Amino acid sequence: MNLVGPCGAFGAWGPLDRADPPHFNSMKSNMGSLHTLRKWLLAKTLGFGVTLLCLGGATATSALAKEPFDFLPLPEQAKPVAEPAEGYRLQRVGTNGYVVMSGVVQANFFVTKTGVVVVDAPPVLADKLVKAIKSVTDKPVTHVILTHDHADHAGGASAFPGAKIVAHALTAELMRVYPDPKRPIPTLTFSGARYDLKVGGTHFQLIYPGPNHETGNIIVYIPEQRIAMMTDLFAPGWAPYLGWGNADHIPGLLKSYDALLALDFDVFLAGHAYRIGNRHDVEVSRAFFLDLWNWTKETIAATPFDPSKAEPGNLWLAQSIWFKEIADKVTPRLIAKWGNELAAVDAFTHSTVMAVVVSTFTDAPNIPDSALKP
Ligand SMILES: [Zn+2]
Repeated sequence: MNLVGPCGAFGAWGPLDRADPPHFNSMKSNMGSLHTLRKWLLAKTLGFGVTLLCLGGATATSALAKEPFDFLPLPEQAKPVAEPAEGYRLQRVGTNGYVVMSGVVQANFFVTKTGVVVVDAPPVLADKLVKAIKSVTDKPVTHVILTHDHADHAGGASAFPGAKIVAHALTAELMRVYPDPKRPIPTLTFSGARYDLKVGGTHFQLIYPGPNHETGNIIVYIPEQRIAMMTDLFAPGWAPYLGWGNADHIPGLLKSYDALLALDFDVFLAGHAYRIGNRHDVEVSRAFFLDLWNWTKETIAATPFDPSKAEPGNLWLAQSIWFKEIADKVTPRLIAKWGNELAAVDAFTHSTVMAVVVSTFTDAPNIPDSALKP
């Protein structure tokens, strides 16, 4: 099926064609807020490509109801990779680095002359990380660098008793709020923007670009090996996670992209994805951020707030309706441009736009125009 219709205020967008069938029916039950968005997602023809179109509501909805799926398939670069019998994959990076991957979860370790330095310890990987390290060296784990406090990346740190736990002081502060025995409080912390950690001949630059995905979330950079790590800013090849992953400070994400791109690196390790990332992934995700931010701002300006759409006095409801209207307009534009390149744009982006709308009013950053250019 290939339908064409009017595109309202958004202009005409080209079709998105994919070779493989979409297969994400299971997501539908959780995606009620994307009901409007589905109007634009139409499966087409026996070739199982997907054409993304902006259509008049009734026609699109009825056409869609006949299709067995209504989400975009994964782009080739984001597809799962078969897992060996041991349940994890181990990939060499740089001269002494290893990435341990299981599903979309990743952790990294570096074998130095005096011991092993682990970067992040996801609980679902903790046993596999221990096993993977033992498979390549007898040296002890002397340091565990935690990029940030989130449980899904720090909750396996207790698997390395005796290691120094290294993190930004703000991460330690967050971990002290409700201490978790699985996330030992960091024993080596730093304040400010940078700390140089040298272990057994390997130089780790720990760089704090300011609040971002999580307050205290740092870049770990090994200049000699051209490796940069930053967990949860984004997953290489994927759209930002639902609502931008509960980001502490959305404008700070742009600072993080720019801090990363000021570094000289080839390999980018992000904590999630079936594959490792690279500099291009960072550039692409930054470009997505710019479209998301700029188009959201434009759309806010072009969409009048109308309190009459809610019961008199219920300004929060009227505001929610307004925010949703804005997200309904921006989301299909982002899907049309990025749906072929980034995975899950259609699954996550409506909530991400909503998060950006709220951020523009609450964080209300004074981002200069020069910083919002490609
Ligand atoms: Zn996180």
